[in-house]
Amino acid sequence: FVKSSVIEGTQFEDDSDQETIDAKDILKRELQDERKTLPIYKFRDELLKAVDEYQVIVIVGETGSGKTTQIPQYLHEAGYTARGKVVCTQPRRVAAMSVAARVSQEMGVKLGHEVGYSIRFEDCTSEKTMIKYMTDGMLLREFLGEPDLAGYSVVMVDEAHERTLSTDILFGLVKDIARFRPDLKLLISSATLDAEKISDYFDSAPIFKIPGRRYPVEVHYTKAPEADYIDAAIVTILQIHVTQPPGDILVFLTGQEEIETVDEILKHKTRGLGTKIPELNICPIYANLPTELQAKIFETTPEGSRKVVLATNIAETSLTIDGIKYVIDPGFCKIKSYNPRTGMESLLINPISKASANQRAGRSGRTGPGKCFRLYTSYNYMHDLEDNTVPEIQRTNLANVVLTLKSLGIHDLVNFDFMDPPPSEALLKALEQLFALSALNSRGELTKTGRRMAEFPLDPMLSKMIVASEKYKCSDEVMSIASMLSIGNSIFYRPKDKQVHADNARLNFHTGNVGDHIALLNVYNSWRETDFSTQWCYENYIQVRSMKRARDIRDQLEGLMERVEIEVCSNASDLDAIKKAITSGFFHHSARLQKNGSYRTVKNPQTVFIHPSSGLAQLLPRWVIYHELVLTTKEYMRQVTELKPEWLVEIAPHYYQLKDVDDAGSKKLPKGQGRAAL
Ligand code: ADP
Ligand code: MG
Repeated sequence: FVKSSVIEGTQFEDDSDQETIDAKDILKRELQDERKTLPIYKFRDELLKAVDEYQVIVIVGETGSGKTTQIPQYLHEAGYTARGKVVCTQPRRVAAMSVAARVSQEMGVKLGHEVGYSIRFEDCTSEKTMIKYMTDGMLLREFLGEPDLAGYSVVMVDEAHERTLSTDILFGLVKDIARFRPDLKLLISSATLDAEKISDYFDSAPIFKIPGRRYPVEVHYTKAPEADYIDAAIVTILQIHVTQPPGDILVFLTGQEEIETVDEILKHKTRGLGTKIPELNICPIYANLPTELQAKIFETTPEGSRKVVLATNIAETSLTIDGIKYVIDPGFCKIKSYNPRTGMESLLINPISKASANQRAGRSGRTGPGKCFRLYTSYNYMHDLEDNTVPEIQRTNLANVVLTLKSLGIHDLVNFDFMDPPPSEALLKALEQLFALSALNSRGELTKTGRRMAEFPLDPMLSKMIVASEKYKCSDEVMSIASMLSIGNSIFYRPKDKQVHADNARLNFHTGNVGDHIALLNVYNSWRETDFSTQWCYENYIQVRSMKRARDIRDQLEGLMERVEIEVCSNASDLDAIKKAITSGFFHHSARLQKNGSYRTVKNPQTVFIHPSSGLAQLLPRWVIYHELVLTTKEYMRQVTELKPEWLVEIAPHYYQLKDVDDAGSKKLPKGQGRAAL
């Protein structure tokens, strides 16, 4: 009796195994059929022939034609992976992960085995990996360890039209190694048609065009400018949902906060619609969205319901979602902009370019005729939008890039082969900043500090803070702070119905008005003391997911500490030591209180305020150091810690002089004389 039940059990298991294998096989077969329907499929052999013949090829093809998912597979099928890995770079983390997941599915292998991805702080590859998707920034870092990219047989720089900073630097580096590695194949792929410029840059490399399928798209404009594009977007979504035939909706928003707002309002508004109106499935997608939820945007919409995807720019060209029939384009995106004169960098919501607007509209016409609703006027489109987005290299802080290039032994930055050289003012500013951080000496050469800093995949100010923690014997604490800062703004949460509780929980970590950096440390350490308890996170209104990510980042930083030979030691009771280590990295970001409660940044004077979410927002210390500036209704400092002004002179004597920090004295100085010469 017993035996038979065991046999039954075994049989049952066998059966279910059989079933899953079958299901997998069916899925794989279906996916293989689907692959053949992509526009690129017809050009497979021609493309492989071209790759065989030429070392460098520029590939142009409409978004969704199959460039990212198919080309690396074709190369693998043609045997290129036998000679080295095929790598495909993406400007965005989410795209790298999502595409890798898709390709591993198509190939019927486990993600991280034959097909993997690598993004900052997350390496999902193994010995077996043959096709590797990674962010362009990560490939840049790989040059540090392997300057000739010996492990790769093909490098595909994808989404080249985005012209991210890392892509532009990669261009220069891969062009260079292609010269002494004739066996290396280079593919540069782009979604826009102006590939001539890229081709010219790569010594007239041939351009391979993949004609896309495109159905007509009806473009609608608003009659008058919209006062509030969030409002307008919500109204438009609901109008489409109620009046238009079936088909999914894609809405372009600028970031996580906007997406969450729209998500919440939509959920609220659709509750009252009644049963006659089909269901509306809301699918957000943005960089920090947890991986498990990212896949949701690709799920097919059940019959009788409609999907609305709320996306950042990621859906413009990086990800293609099938079934989109309606696009709502408010006309904005968040971009980093940098003022080389002041050295200030901020994320700003800006109007998009005409090229972007056209890409966005095109998303609706992939599988059939589509409609695009632009929440701006046709006059705006014609007269106010730039033709193209300015490449990032022209509008960013270059300190990180300069540090990377210097550590690659590239000294002569002025003559580096940039496709569009950065403004020389920005280069100079970066050199100055690295000099002030002691990463470069006065001859512009990398110092020991600089070499150590370059090991960390962080902004130079953060890596300097970590390297400086050696001196103050508090590396344990500083690593935790750096990890928490790297998570961004998603540690605490504040449910609408429990705001008071959430705020009280948060204030606990600020006891003694220690400042935001130490408060983050308190959060991390308290969590660590509970042995990383999830329950503890719930009780304290802290996002457990963010904390886990911070722990991952911290583990990796700890690994790097070993590489740069900094001993991990704790100095928890000496808060001044920890604050001095922070100041060693962030002394550029100092500000002094003004009579009216605002602050004035010490160098490059500018009026700023403490962000209301800061633990010091009510306290207004005389001198503060901040992590970053964010511009919303005002220019706010986020993550603020009190500072003793004499530390600035002690820690950065070549940047600050006594007169900069002497409260009484500085007021008597005529304008501009308070600056230390550099
Ligand atoms: P391109 O790079 O030319 O824009 P892709 O290779 O990204 O094109 O996309 C080809 C097809 O693969 C598209 O139809 C897209 O919907 C599908 N696809 C890509 N990634 C995923 C994913 N993660 N899940 C489901 N489908 C995907
Ligand atoms: Mg692509």
